[in-house]
Amino acid sequence: MKAVFINAPHQAALRDIAQPAAGPGQVLVRVAAAGMCMSDLEILKGIRPEPYIKYPIIPGHEWCGTVVETGPGVTRPAVGQRVAIEGLNPCRTCFWCQRGETNLCVTYNEFGFTLPGGYAEYVAVRADLAHPFADTLSFDVAALTEPAACAGHGILRAGMRPGDTIAIVGPGTIGLLGVAWARLFSPRRIIALGIDRMNERLARMMGVTEYLVIDDDPVSCVRELTDGRGADVVFEAAGSETAIQLAFDLARRGGTVALAGIVGGQRQIPLESDIFCLKNLHVHGVFSYTSSLFAQSLRLIENGLLDVRPLLTHTFPLAEYSYAFDLLRSRREPVGKILLKP
Ligand SMILES: [Zn+2]
Ligand SMILES: [Zn+2]
Repeated sequence: MKAVFINAPHQAALRDIAQPAAGPGQVLVRVAAAGMCMSDLEILKGIRPEPYIKYPIIPGHEWCGTVVETGPGVTRPAVGQRVAIEGLNPCRTCFWCQRGETNLCVTYNEFGFTLPGGYAEYVAVRADLAHPFADTLSFDVAALTEPAACAGHGILRAGMRPGDTIAIVGPGTIGLLGVAWARLFSPRRIIALGIDRMNERLARMMGVTEYLVIDDDPVSCVRELTDGRGADVVFEAAGSETAIQLAFDLARRGGTVALAGIVGGQRQIPLESDIFCLKNLHVHGVFSYTSSLFAQSLRLIENGLLDVRPLLTHTFPLAEYSYAFDLLRSRREPVGKILLKP
């Protein structure tokens, strides 16, 4: 079968390798669509932190397909079922897994980072990670389940309430999927904040009501839009030092900030020492998503409550991975989610 390998930083290649088989407790999935993510670009650039990558690797952690073979002991999902794949492989037995916090499993193991991922024709996966979905849901949309679960984690942890004003820092894929989640709470305003206006149209299609760029003096703008208070909830999905600092400044007194962006490189940020106490800020760091949230995200996408479709902007055959990586890197045109199809 064909698969894209990143052998080492800056070394990607399409290779022909033996098709995997479903081992005990596993199913073999024929990949229908795999989303490209900025973290795939980090693998290519070699900037992903050490425990979170093992080279050589077949990337792809946002994918779905059809079960074509079941291994010994597997009763479901059945052959022929469409499935979306949970990316993390939690052990189900450690301290965190037993509390349902499977995103914090003591053993980090994830498709596309430490296990062969979806940039391939077939992947063998543990049966409990293959979540069936209805034939009425397209593969393209189902491929967004994984990033939607990441975004949902931030919005749900922030404890959004109906009528809240939310600010989204970083209108990329995760930020805009956060918009889709925020809409479930009938927000008063959804204010997006970007570095440029490239994604403005896409952001408005997702439901953003005000779009600001960094040169607009966003803190003053957000205060003006909220009777001088600031945003009730801030969802940071940009992954830069500036974005994190800005998130704290955009929140109102007593507001909540959910940080989902990863800066990398163990960078330090200067913060006003009393900003958390004096502002009574609630701050949540959110890493990945739990098994139950993945399942919940898939159901919400399947029944159309979580509308993620405007995000699908590009599709390429797997063989054109190099062009697709280049598009993701250059952002020379508005890019939502790029899908690769084996
Ligand atoms: Zn991703
Ligand atoms: Zn565990």
